[in-house]
Amino acid sequence: MESSAAPTVSAGHDAGPAPVDLLRRLRARGAGDPVTHVERVPARVGVPAPWPAWAPPELRAAFARRGVVAPWQHQAEAATLAYDGGHVIVATGTASGKSLAYQLPALATLLADPRATVLYLAPTKALAADQLRAVAGLELEGVRPACYDGDTPRAEREWIRRHSRFVLTNPDMLHHGILPGHAQWSGFLRRLAYVVIDECHTYRGVFGSHVAHVLRRLRRQCARFGATPVFVLASATSGDPATAAGRLTGLPVTAVTEDASPRGGVTFALWEPPLLPPDSATPAVPAQAAGDHDATTDLVQVRRSALRETADLLADTVAEGVRTLAFVRSRKGAEVVAANARRALDDAVPGLGDRVAAYRGGYLREERRELERALLHGDLLGLASTNALELGVDLVGLDAVLICGYPGTRASLWQQAGRAGRSGQEALAVLVARDDPLDTYLVHHPEAIFGAPVEATVLDPANPYVLAPQLACAAVEAPLTPADLALFGDGAKEAIDQLVEAGALRQRPTGWYWRHRERPEVDLRGEGGAPVCVVESATGRLLGTVDGGSSHFLLHPGAVYLHQGISYVVDDLDLADGCALVHVEEPDWSTHARDVTDLSVVSVRSYVDAGPVGMFLGEVDVTSQVVSYQRRRIATGEVIDTRPLDLPTRELRTVAVWFTLSPRSLASAGVQQADVPGALHAAEHAAIGLLPLMATCDRWDIGGLSTALHPDTEAPTVFVYDGHPGGAGFAERAYGTASAWLRATRDAIAECGCETGCPSCVQSPKCGNGNNPLSKPDAIRVLDVVLENLPA
Ligand SMILES: [Zn+2]
Ligand SMILES: [Zn+2]
Repeated sequence: MESSAAPTVSAGHDAGPAPVDLLRRLRARGAGDPVTHVERVPARVGVPAPWPAWAPPELRAAFARRGVVAPWQHQAEAATLAYDGGHVIVATGTASGKSLAYQLPALATLLADPRATVLYLAPTKALAADQLRAVAGLELEGVRPACYDGDTPRAEREWIRRHSRFVLTNPDMLHHGILPGHAQWSGFLRRLAYVVIDECHTYRGVFGSHVAHVLRRLRRQCARFGATPVFVLASATSGDPATAAGRLTGLPVTAVTEDASPRGGVTFALWEPPLLPPDSATPAVPAQAAGDHDATTDLVQVRRSALRETADLLADTVAEGVRTLAFVRSRKGAEVVAANARRALDDAVPGLGDRVAAYRGGYLREERRELERALLHGDLLGLASTNALELGVDLVGLDAVLICGYPGTRASLWQQAGRAGRSGQEALAVLVARDDPLDTYLVHHPEAIFGAPVEATVLDPANPYVLAPQLACAAVEAPLTPADLALFGDGAKEAIDQLVEAGALRQRPTGWYWRHRERPEVDLRGEGGAPVCVVESATGRLLGTVDGGSSHFLLHPGAVYLHQGISYVVDDLDLADGCALVHVEEPDWSTHARDVTDLSVVSVRSYVDAGPVGMFLGEVDVTSQVVSYQRRRIATGEVIDTRPLDLPTRELRTVAVWFTLSPRSLASAGVQQADVPGALHAAEHAAIGLLPLMATCDRWDIGGLSTALHPDTEAPTVFVYDGHPGGAGFAERAYGTASAWLRATRDAIAECGCETGCPSCVQSPKCGNGNNPLSKPDAIRVLDVVLENLPA
């Protein structure tokens, strides 16, 4: 901390300084101004609407007892659309009351028709339990809401099937339990009026593609019993929610996105840690060779770490008497932030550091309540923690929220920022950028955060690796008929033919029949080979599973593996047994695996011929091998060393987007022939880093390859591919938004203040080639050529 004045701490109940004044003091502490943008998000007055005329007095009275005097405008609008029989998605902010939008039409229907039923799906059991409490709390006659999931005792299951008219469950239970047991559920399904899909943005990628087919199977069973339920979906704000909901359900869906709920005002600052002068940066320890591609040193130019910056901000706000919560991605990171803030405060005023704590997962309920109490009374002023969703702490009345690194989606960002603000008071939120191209882009493009959302929830129901097993499940439930082909969409006929050829289905005049005695085993989260079990050596306890595709990256020997906030180190990865042995350990480094990749084009699905530039979407075969991993100091990001690994290669058939450029166009843009590989490689890294701006995904979901001459394209080419067999929709989304995506990529590189490239722009922690070669200025030239030629 650079402040020289001894801080004084105001009493806990005082309101801290106004957010604007506080921010002014924070940004004046160091040399230079790290703030790239300040957005005043004004307080919003709620817009109430009258109760819809169709809402029965009994239901209005029940909501009134719970304190709901009238719905907000968006709730009433979505509810009426659904009540009139339209499929609706309500995509509004955190705490905007999305549940009323589906409770209202669903419960009104249950009251009006004593036979009707409702099925509610949540991504987690905890959310379903919350909703159960809310619906049961309304005390409506004859609704008999009940959770039906893996924890439901056998003895209660039959009662629920027969008598509950509001069943709350999750997609896994629908897939494994309800649909295979449709005969027992026929009474319920026959009368099904509404299907509610809560938090539907969580159904993305391969998992989302599976859930999309589970919902089609549900619709098929309902149709067999003569029911056509209305679908009501709730989602975090996102780009194009109607399209995402349409893909998920296979139905036309209307979106309601205008949030009419009230909220407090927030002063939101975007904060970019300064670049360290080159000579003061910690030089990377030379990499140990794992192959000649690793024998380069990393570029040394770095920014001050987001953790250090967050720790200083936390110390400064606490010194001002401001109640502050800092969100940090990992538990170890949260501890580093809290420890550094404590040290800085104790240096200024001995004992002041005691008012900062790190939140460790696994606290007992009483301990969590004690933490809440200490924060409420001001004994504790600063808390560093991982994600609020894991927090289990009900924190209210915070004056400031520090967000260390973009949490991946706008929904999470607003959820974290939303923790700040006491009733009616202005609060401060600060997003501290990490050294990552997406963070760099966002702090220089506030419109991407505060303007209309562009990031979309993507899934690909046509993925053959999802479609075929799902069709097998459907065939067990009832023979497939030609009429089902349209329901299951593109690729269904081909997938059925393959199942016939493989001997799984038999074609008869009345349809396609499942030939085996056993049901197919299909895991909704299964991706690319059998999942690998993570087992604690000392106890034999199974901690969880990691899908086969990510296991080499996440569970190689020596990897630091985080599970529910607790850190483990991998002792051994036994691929034959599909099992990784780990022990509890919290080293002060993180690990980053690197792979080498080879890629060949199988087919082209779609392309844009733009003169010297070509943009393609198609199938590719990727061969990759994880060859080494890097250990990096958590507090500083400093590279400790690079260690070799001995893992087999893996094959992946997937979907890729790629662009080619003519050598002549590169030459006339000023890219020297020798610099072409570095230019393409740098553009590839940044493009991968920016894809989460367009689609909710992270680096593990995508991979890339660039080459100055690819044998299949016969041109300089950059490939970006889905890291899941058959594709998960990410490459397709990239292709569909190519010019916006590559424009953002170009801007992120150009706007990074470094000279030769750094982790904030063109370096990648996953690079299989040790971030070599990379040419930052030539990457901008490459992307300019693409953008000049590509139609918008
Ligand atoms: Zn940079
Ligand atoms: Zn690379």
